[in-house]
Amino acid sequence: MRVFKFGGASVKDAAGVKNVYDVLQKVGYEDVLLVVSAMGKTTNALEAVIKDYFDKSAALQSSVQEVKKYHNQILLDLFEDDKNAVFTAVNALFSDLEYFLAHNKSPNYNFVYDQIVSYGELISTTILSHFMNHMGIQTQWIDVRSFIKTNSNYRDAEVDWDLTQKNISKNVKRKILNITQGFLGSDENNFTTTLGREGSDYTAAIFAYCLNADSVTIWKDVPGVMNADPRYFENARLLNHISYREAIELAFYGATVIHPKTLQPLQKKEIPLYVKSFINPLLEGTEVSKGAALEPYLPCFIVKRNQLLISLSSIDFSFIMEENISSIFSLFHQFKIKVNLIQNSAISFSVCVEDKFDNFKQLNTILSKNFKVDFTENVTLYTIRHFNEDAALTVENGKTVLLKQISTETMQIVTSGN
Ligand code: ADP
Ligand code: ASP
Ligand code: MG
Repeated sequence: MRVFKFGGASVKDAAGVKNVYDVLQKVGYEDVLLVVSAMGKTTNALEAVIKDYFDKSAALQSSVQEVKKYHNQILLDLFEDDKNAVFTAVNALFSDLEYFLAHNKSPNYNFVYDQIVSYGELISTTILSHFMNHMGIQTQWIDVRSFIKTNSNYRDAEVDWDLTQKNISKNVKRKILNITQGFLGSDENNFTTTLGREGSDYTAAIFAYCLNADSVTIWKDVPGVMNADPRYFENARLLNHISYREAIELAFYGATVIHPKTLQPLQKKEIPLYVKSFINPLLEGTEVSKGAALEPYLPCFIVKRNQLLISLSSIDFSFIMEENISSIFSLFHQFKIKVNLIQNSAISFSVCVEDKFDNFKQLNTILSKNFKVDFTENVTLYTIRHFNEDAALTVENGKTVLLKQISTETMQIVTSGN
């Protein structure tokens, strides 16, 4: 069996959905499980709905309406006959969402988030499944929440592998085209959970692992994994092959083309991962499997913007030792600030962090009681795997370097500005 994953960008409009059909025609669809994300930027749009819901904002109706309008347009572009059963099916999902918004009593933000945001994937897979049937490809729509069981850590749920394995081995039918939702799972009480933003790649890996699949293919708007994000590096080149280890490193440092959790389950069973273009599905793309680190052997660039560089020094010139460091880290954890680089010297301690939830101001008040705190906002963190002198120059050219750290395989450079 093969597992395919189509992300939001691949199904952002009617042309995208039709293209999925074309890809399946070209590469085959028997004995395939299709994992699909929410269409385009639907997850972000549903996050806006959640915000309005908690803010008790008058804009709530219109933010729901926006999600409806977007999907309705796709439906109208895909199906000439508005009596097609898909219209009723999608309307029913929106009615469920509206019912939830009107009747929910839980004040738990993360719980509510998962119940709402999941409609993105439920709707996209409903549309895709109906469209494939309409085009003559019979599909089996499956509700992933009956398969992937998790704990109740809403928004970042952990998979219960034993239960998930049992459900998948017993109930996924072979020899047909299955369609299911990425990103979702359900807990012990069958409430919807999610696996973390961008988690659909991970869903594909979970199914592949439990099905002992032959391969996973994630279909992208790029030719494969490249040695840099082509949005930022015009000379980015395709990597034909990378090892699991290398892919894990790239994903860890922030190459957003593969979700970091995807690789471990695949590596365990040595299931190859292909990253291919949904525009040119017959091109080779990238194969992630056992073997040489990367071919061709090139420096790989990863860019993280909007970082914060914080430097802490002791007020009394004492050393910053384990005890301080451990309390500093538990504060970062508490304030949900993600540390991407650490540099330590006798009396100062620097970190490059991501403050996604705007918590640093609050944290700074606490840190300032014990440390002298200096910080620079809006810095950029570059990571170069397999660096060489030229690669470093490409990054540093014309920029102010604030910090640089070198290990055997990896160079990290923090520059001012975005
Ligand atoms: P999906 O629709 O599956 O969620 P994403 O938009 O998350 O797809 O991922 C594809 C994007 O990842 C590309 O458009 C590209 O800009 C970006 N990207 C980041 N790093 C790389 C890389 N090293 N190689 C290829 N693409 C990359
Ligand atoms: N739709 C979810 C997100 O946007 C999951 C995914 O696309 O992988 O985060
Ligand atoms: Mg994505």
